[in-house]
Formats: sequence, structure tokens, C-alpha cells
Amino acid sequence: MLAKELINPKSIVIVGGSNDIQKPGGKLIKNILENNFSGNLFIVNPKEENIQGIKCFKELSELPNVDLAVIAIAARFCPETVEYLAQSKGTRGFIIISAGFSEEGEAGAMLERKVVESVNKVNGTLIGPNCVGIMNCHHTSIFTTPIPKLVNNGCDFISGSGATAVFIMESAIPKGLTFSSVYSVGNSAQTCVEDILQHLDESFDPESSSKVKLIYLETVKKPAKLLKHAQNLISKGCKIAAIKAGSSDAGSRAASSHTGALASSDTAVDALFKKAGIVRCHSREELTTVAAIFMHKELVGKNIAIITHAGGPAVMLTDALSNGGFSIPHIEGEAAEELLQKLFPGSSVANPIDFLATGTASQLETIIDYCENKFNNIDAMVVIFGSPGLFPVFDVYNVLHEKMKICKKPIFPVLPSVMNVKDEIAEFLAKGRINFPDEVLLGNALSKVSTTNISQNEVIGTSPNHDKIRDIIKKCPKGYLEPSIVQELLDAAEIPRTQEIIVNDESLAKTAGSMAGWPLVMKVIGPVHKSDVGGVVLNVKNEEQLSLEFHRMMKIEGATGVLIQPMLSGIEVFAGIKREDNFGHMILCGMGGIYIEILKDVSYGLAPISLLESREMINNLKSIKLLKGARGKKGIDIELFAKIITRLSALAISAPEISEMDINPLLANENEIVAVDARIKID
Ligand code: ADP
Ligand code: MG
Repeated sequence: MLAKELINPKSIVIVGGSNDIQKPGGKLIKNILENNFSGNLFIVNPKEENIQGIKCFKELSELPNVDLAVIAIAARFCPETVEYLAQSKGTRGFIIISAGFSEEGEAGAMLERKVVESVNKVNGTLIGPNCVGIMNCHHTSIFTTPIPKLVNNGCDFISGSGATAVFIMESAIPKGLTFSSVYSVGNSAQTCVEDILQHLDESFDPESSSKVKLIYLETVKKPAKLLKHAQNLISKGCKIAAIKAGSSDAGSRAASSHTGALASSDTAVDALFKKAGIVRCHSREELTTVAAIFMHKELVGKNIAIITHAGGPAVMLTDALSNGGFSIPHIEGEAAEELLQKLFPGSSVANPIDFLATGTASQLETIIDYCENKFNNIDAMVVIFGSPGLFPVFDVYNVLHEKMKICKKPIFPVLPSVMNVKDEIAEFLAKGRINFPDEVLLGNALSKVSTTNISQNEVIGTSPNHDKIRDIIKKCPKGYLEPSIVQELLDAAEIPRTQEIIVNDESLAKTAGSMAGWPLVMKVIGPVHKSDVGGVVLNVKNEEQLSLEFHRMMKIEGATGVLIQPMLSGIEVFAGIKREDNFGHMILCGMGGIYIEILKDVSYGLAPISLLESREMINNLKSIKLLKGARGKKGIDIELFAKIITRLSALAISAPEISEMDINPLLANENEIVAVDARIKID
């Protein structure tokens, strides 16, 4: 939990306060004075008598006890200042605005560690250093603007970057979004984004806490903490949207397995967000649009009425919604005819409901009433109403506001004329409403929200063969495992594999051939990517060919033997494991074969994976129709594939030493799924 002195201080001291409001130490004071803080504000500055109308203290020792210190002095003076305030003035909340700490090298990092030590000794909370500050319903200890409207039921917003926090506010406020708290964590010396999320979770009060959490972060420092508290908050009825910037990852591209090449640390972030139920956004506008959707009534269902007085935006919105899996159902029948009679000639009610450029406020009222009460195939409305600038539209937006109050179906307002009718929009927002200025951003964000599942906190056990798996893993060397151990592990994990025989001399090769039956498949043992070096021969029909191929294969560089398998047929699918530092194991599945890196049809999830999750992973594949059977061809046993994915996940949980594993391909048909090629790497 964050110290209460940070959240709701009775007194604040600005150390390094200034008269110059173009400096952080000056702007901080101005912001605090002009907003919601009702406690005592002290300022320390040895060079000034009076700052912005407040008497200045020359020295810390002159101060009375004080809850929160906001510090804007050179980094080298911070450790002694913090230590003194913590020890002598009962201060528990600290916000360090100053830069010059760990972001500048080892000397700065040392200062930072000293500060953290002092704060920890008194069980206090430190935000920063190198941050813009925090604000909430009690105070605005932040040196940047804009300051949003701060109310209990606004958004809680945690940002790993101060500047980005400012730009996100600039995108949010004109839409009408309000905030309950904003945290900029800076260097996160003591308190990082995940710690604040934990605080929001542990201090959550269903009556008074905000239900919308927004996050901007560049590194996930504590994935497990993020997952846990995001899941908790969502289970308490909250909604979370987040941007995780920085998605390129050179490290994983060098990986030698298919899974390694397909999964980066960004995939792990995706998987974690998905598991938690966090809506992942990629831009500021997207984040604030999703936040604005969260602030509206929840959209249940997929059928949307578009109510508009202009054709273009309605068409663009129809496209965006349809592409996002929504339907703009045809509206017809008696009630539709009746509604049409009440509109100007030339209007259309088929959906989009277009009541023309001359449409009036009372017509809008009627249309909304019909959508709410008479059109049963409508779940929500989007009202698009701008202005060419000829006359005011206060009456229209007032109708919208009143209807939004009473309608059970959600109504999303798209008011695009942010210049022509800016006064009308301002009045609408002043009533607590939110505007979506761009219909396509709204459409895309709606579809993103609707496809992010609520997390299923299902309890998942470890592998039933945990002990057997541990026994095998204990004897494994590091690196790629040899085929015989791979076989043992697949068997222990209950992943069905093909019968196969390992041979390393010609006579054995002949016996093997007769054992497996013809035709068969020969594979070189040794090289990692066998096909690339001519190390896989399919459809070997007789002993002569077997012997010929055996001699050829043993000459391939790195060959230590040959693997012989029966020739199978089926659709090629793939499943794999990739360990991502801190996150745990990602489980991947997709269409398999030698082109998997080219087609990249993969789904992934973070272990442990439940059967529900693995079914969903398979359902999200582009090739799902193929797997279900298409064009007269039979599909595969999808339920069995889902089970294999959960068994793979259980294997990863039981054997965390596995850093990479590929089963590519598994040959699958409607009755069975059999692994014919598997690689496991231990680290
Ligand atoms: P690698 O991935 O090292 O190139 P694989 O063992 O995956 O080698 O074999 C390459 C391809 O050969 C597979 O994608 C599959 O199309 C085919 N194949 C491999 N084993 C069999 C088998 N037992 N029956 C039928 N086809 C197979
Ligand atoms: Mg393969």
C-alpha cells in the first residue's frame, strides 16, 4: 500500500520552491494553490522571503511536521533532505521531481539508493525521482499542465513516462474524460507502475473507487504482480487499458527454434495482457478512446444503430464496425415505417438512420426512443451529429444528454464539429459527458474492447505426471536434448508421438525398416533444421532406397545417426513453448510445417493454460476454418489439439528448465494427432 501521507496529505512542503512559474519548483506551487488542496502548504528556499504569496522557510529545521515532501532541488542534495525529513519531521510521502539520478549513471544510482533507504526506514512511499509528480482528488503535486477535472469516478492513470502522461491528458481532457488519480513514476526507484496497480487493487472500494484504470509503460518490471492485480481489479468489476511501448526485440530474433522466432518478449506482453483481460492499446488516441468507452454503459451484444445527419461518417463507421465484428442490422417493419413518417422526406431508417442535414433535436429524440423501445434487434446507438456552422445545436446535444441519462441501451456520441460548435460541445462535456470526435477511432476501439475477454481465473493443476517429468529433467544436460530424451519427455507429458527408431549403422537401418513397415520416413539426427540440409526423406519405399539414403545422410555435417518413422499423413499443426524472462512460459500453437515462419499463423498464451484458453487460442487462428474442415476435406480433432496444448503448458510448469520447445509438425486428422518432430532446449 502507498503511504496515506502521499495520497491524502494534511500538509505538503515544496523543497526548492520558486517564484518562477516556468520552473518545476514554481509551477508545482501554482498548480497546488490553484486546485483542490485544502491542507497546509510550506515552501523551503534559503534565498527567498516569500514565494507566490507564501512565507518561505530558510531551512528544513524551521518546518513543523509535514506529511508529504515534493522535492525539486539538485539530485546531490536529495539524500540528506529526505533522510532529515523522514527522521525529524515525520514525513512519509516523497515525490522527487529532480533528475540526475540512476538515469545518468552509477553516481546518480547511488544517490537514488540512499534516498530509497531513508524512505524505506520509515515505511514511507517514494515517487520518482525524475518524474512530473502525482495528482488526485486531494492534491495536485505535479508541475505539468493540463490538470484534468479530478473526481472519484474518473480514470486512475499510471504512467511510466511523465511527458507521455502529459500528452495522454491532452488527448483525454478535450474528450471530456475526468480523472481520479494520475501517477508519473519516473525512475521508479522504490515504486513502479505495478506497485501502484497493487495499491489501486488493495485499496479498492466498490462504492467510491474508480472502475477504470489506464496504464502507460515501457518496461514490465514485475509481470507476475501486474497480472495478479490486473486480474483482481477486473474481477472486482474494473476495466483496464494499457499501452506497452517498445515492442521490437532483437534478442529473440536470433533464436534457433520456430517458437523462438515466432515469440518475442512483446508476444509475452500480449499474452499477459490477454490473460489478465487488459485491453492493449498502441496509441494515445486509442487509449483515451477505449477509456471513454469504459466510461459509458457496457455494450452487451453486437447490433448497433447508427443515427446520423451526415452520410460520410456513418459509412466510415459502418465499415469500421463491420470489420470489427459488429452488425448494423437492417431496421424494417411497422415501427420503422412509423418512424420514417415522423422524419423529413428523404430520410432513411434502414440503418444507418439518416435524418438529413436538416434533422432536428426533436427528431433525434424520436429516433432514440424508437431504438430504445421498439427496435429489438438493436443493442446500442451511435449518434453522429456535427454542424456546418450555420446555426447552434445546443438543443440537439441537450436531447442527447437527457436520453443518455434514461436509456438502458448505451449511446455513444460522435460530435465531430470540434470547431464549429465548440461551445455546444463544451456545454455537453460540462454535464459530465464524453465525446468521440472520430467515428472510426470509436468503431475500432469498440471492436478492440469487445474482443478482449474477461479473464477466467480458473485453477489449473500441474501435470499429473509431474514426478516422472522431474526425474527426466534432472538427468538432462543443458542445450538441445537428444531424440531419446525428447521421446521420454513427450511420453511423460502424454503428448502422442509417432513410433520411431534411432539407428546408426546400416544393418540396424535395415532391421528398423522392416520393423516400421513401408513406406517410411528417414531423418538425420544432429542438425537442428533437418530439411534445410537435405536431412529429411519422405516415402522411402524399400531396403535399397533405405540403404542409399542412410549412407548419404550419415555424410551430412554433424550427423550422428538416423531416425526412422512410419510415413503418416494429415494436416500439419504446431505447438511450442518459449520461456520469457520474468513472464514465465508462453505456449504457442498454429499451422505447422516447414513454412511456419513465413505464414506466421500462431496464437499464444501465458502458462498455465486452461482448456478454455487453449480452445480460444485455436479458435483465434486464421486457419481455423481449415482445421475444422473445408472444401470437402475433413478437419482435425480440435478438442484433442486443445488438450495437447494444455498438456504442453503443464509440462512447462513442471519443467521450468525448458527454455524452448517445438513440436513441428504434429500430423493431425479427425481421429488422432501425432508429433513427428520435436525439439527441446534446456537452460
Ligand atoms: P525439420 O523440421 O527439421 O525440417 P521434420 O521432421 O519436421 O524436419 O520434417 C519436415 C517435414 O517432413 C514435416 O514438416 C512434414 O511435412 C514431413 N514429415 C516429417 N515426418 C513425417 C512423417 N513421419 N510422416 C509424414 N511426413 C513427415
Ligand atoms: Mg520440423
